[in-house]
This record gives sequence, structure tokens and C-alpha cells, in this order.
Amino acid sequence: MHIFFGENMISYRKLRQNLEKQFLSAGIDDFSDIDWIICEVLNKKRSMLPFCDSIDEKQLELIMAAAEKRMKHIPIAYIFGKTNFYGYDLTVNQNVLIPRLDTEILIDETIKLIKERKPSTILDIGTGSGAIAIVLNKETGVKAFAVDVSEKALLVAKQNAETNKADVTFVKSNIFDNIQDLKVDFIVSNPPYIETDVVKGLEKEVIENEPILALDGGEDGLDFYREIINNARKHLNKKGMLIFEIGYNQAEDVASLMKQDFKEIRVVKDYGGNDRVVIGELV
Ligand code: SAM
Ligand code: GLN
Repeated sequence: MHIFFGENMISYRKLRQNLEKQFLSAGIDDFSDIDWIICEVLNKKRSMLPFCDSIDEKQLELIMAAAEKRMKHIPIAYIFGKTNFYGYDLTVNQNVLIPRLDTEILIDETIKLIKERKPSTILDIGTGSGAIAIVLNKETGVKAFAVDVSEKALLVAKQNAETNKADVTFVKSNIFDNIQDLKVDFIVSNPPYIETDVVKGLEKEVIENEPILALDGGEDGLDFYREIINNARKHLNKKGMLIFEIGYNQAEDVASLMKQDFKEIRVVKDYGGNDRVVIGELV
């Protein structure tokens, strides 16, 4: 796709107008991504964009290359290979889920609990980009372990721990399989929790780009909760805490799975008012 303006320089305003039309015909109505792309290529803050009157040909080429990818429904984070989560810059690629804003709720709640109960160790199950383990270690200094079944995800997570100077020990493991002897004070997890049938219908950005392995929670979406809860006692120290991110409609099911081994089970809502986190203490 080419933009021909009959001049060597183009202003932000003209470029944005043009890209808005192209985005719309590609079925994308979130124009904020246009600004993301332009900011990234020009290395400017968003507030400076209206003053950019002279985007040159080379810059335009880079902007158009990124815009074309976005119009093919590739998320911005994958296009530029990075995202920001809880104030930390993280590398991402299509082997890891792009950390969601919702997951910051799990981080907030876990940080509060870490400050209150001063655990020595935590374990993050299904670490993906390493987001949860890295941020919890950086924010509180707690010693973090993290597992993922995907070797390719762990490569990304390790790189992120290194660039953020986080102290996290990563192990390739199918849930607890390769950490039979590990006992920790807290287990945190944002596991795959979408029902298999629902995964197929997710928006193109997700289904065509994010790893299915990070999303599919089995027929009823609860496979990982069952498996983790059933084995939690073996891996938690006395008074250990289990902290889960959940899908908006899973609080009751997950709480009821936890009832046998956990007490003081509570649910925390996200910014949108949906149930998002379930917490319990080992009985
Ligand atoms: N923790 C990251 C976050 O919150 O952004 C990623 C969460 S993503 C929803 C779930 C993660 O679980 C993926 O990285 C996926 O590779 C991992 N996973 C899937 N099956 C697994 C298994 N059997 N054992 C361990 N990790 C698994
Ligand atoms: N929140 C993610 C989504 O809506 C799902 C993450 C998960 O399954 N844990 O795509």
C-alpha cells in the first residue's frame, strides 16, 4: 500500500486522516494505535504529535510498514516487540501472551499481601513473558520462582528478568511436574482460563496472534484451577496463600474448588467491575 502526497514531507494531521480511513476500511476503529505507531517511529510523546509537520519519506515508510501490520490485526505490542506492564518495559513476541491491564489487579492484591505477611518465596505458574514474577520481585524483593511449559516463552521471560534486573528462577515445567520438591509461601497464577469453544471466537488480534497455549483452559475453562488447587497443599508452606486471576464469570466455580483446602476465600473485582482475582489461605 502506498501513500502518494506529491510532496516530500507530510504533516501528522494529514497522515493521521489518511490512516484513519485505511484503518476503518480494514475494520479497525481504534485510532489510538495510529498515534502509538507514529510516536514510536518518530520517538515523540503523544502530546507532541500535532506539532509534527514534517514527517519525511523514510519515517513515512516505517510508519506505513507498521500500520499495514496493524491493519492485518497484529497487536501493536507484537509489531514493536515490546509492551509496558506495571511500569516495567517487557519484550514480547508471539510465544507469549501480551500482559493485560487486568493482571495489574492480581499484582496490586499480591503486593498488599506480601507487605502484610512477608512471605520468603512465591511461585508464578504459567509465567509467559515473566510479567507477574518479575514485577512482584522488583516491587517487593520477594524471591520468585516461575514455571511455564513453553520453552519459547521462558526464553522471553528470562530476557525480561535480565533487562529488568529481577531475581527470578525459571523452570520449564508442566504445572508442578518438574518442581516436585519446591515449597513456597505464595502461589500466584494467571493460567489459561478461556473455554475451548470460546477461544475460537476471540477477536483476530488474539486468536490469530497470541499463543493458544496461553488461553485455552479446557472445555469449561477450569482445567488449570483444578490441577493447581488439587496439588497446592504439597507445594505451599503453612498458612500459604493461593492467588488466581480468573475470567469474569469464574469466581464462584474457582472459589468452590478452593473450599476444601482454603479458607478466607475472597474475590476482587477489576477496574471494569468484573470479578478478576480469587484469593485464599491454606487451611
Ligand atoms: N503470566 C503471564 C501473564 O499474566 O501475562 C502469562 C499468562 S497466560 C494466560 C498462561 C501461561 O501458561 C502461558 O504462558 C502458557 O504457556 C502457560 N501454560 C500453558 N499450559 C501450561 C502448563 N501445562 N504448565 C505450565 N504453564 C502452562
Ligand atoms: N485475559 C485474556 C484474554 O481475554 C485471557 C488470559 C487467560 O486466559 N488467562 O484474552
